Amino acid sequence: MTIARALTIAGSDSGGGAGIQADLKTFQELRAFGMSAITAVTAQNTLGVHGIYPLSTEAVAQQIDAIGEDLGADAVKTGMLFSSEIIVCVAEKLQQYKWEKVVVDPVMIAKGGAALLLNESIRALKQSLLPLAYVVTPNIPEAEILTDMQIVTMEDRKEAARKLAAYGAKHVVMKGGHDPAGADEIVDLLYDGRDFYEFRSERQETRHTHGTGCTFAAAITAELAKGHSVLEAVPVAKAFIQAAIEDSLHLGLGHGPTNHWA
Ligand code: PLP
Repeated sequence: MTIARALTIAGSDSGGGAGIQADLKTFQELRAFGMSAITAVTAQNTLGVHGIYPLSTEAVAQQIDAIGEDLGADAVKTGMLFSSEIIVCVAEKLQQYKWEKVVVDPVMIAKGGAALLLNESIRALKQSLLPLAYVVTPNIPEAEILTDMQIVTMEDRKEAARKLAAYGAKHVVMKGGHDPAGADEIVDLLYDGRDFYEFRSERQETRHTHGTGCTFAAAITAELAKGHSVLEAVPVAKAFIQAAIEDSLHLGLGHGPTNHWA
């Protein structure tokens, strides 16, 4: 049996709905062997992020080395990276281990408003990490920040995707859930540097959507680790996140997590 190995380099969510915890649960459900390098520890629950404790670059590098020198990875996901120092450290390690199937989820702000990436680090994300991205998975607000554009129409989304590809990302998956028009239909856009593909689904009304972004990107990573193409991985990830939202968990007093068992 070949074992698909998936590594997530991201923040820990003590509440279990997002970050490393969401990634590992998703990897497990999609039959990839999950490994992790933690960049920051958050004290967090369904009510929000109560504390952020970034790890030293030495601690991040050593975790990645432990995996790179021994287990190896077929696909890697990056999530919350918090600071420029951690971004640069992760970029160096991705190159050192020649990991090519890299899914960059450009995590910036939690749904509750907490900054998971320092403002000053957006440049580092663009300059150091996007050129290494096999796939980048921004939502619309993240795409706007990365491209300095206001995104209103589908044409705007396509132009932003072209810009992100010009920064070096091989594939852009722009998630439509934050459509400012709040349309009933969600359109996720995939751009492979040549063609555009649209993936449509109905918007689901629920406040229990904590961790959706992490889960979606992790599902793409698991599928890539198993040897699938991006064009094959995106619909599988979309079906996975759709089911996870449909069956989301009414846990805690705030925004509950999506259901990885769905
Ligand atoms: N906490 C961590 C560690 C994350 O990586 C993320 C998202 O990437 C979040 C929280 C945000 O979760 P949400 O905005 O879905 O509530």
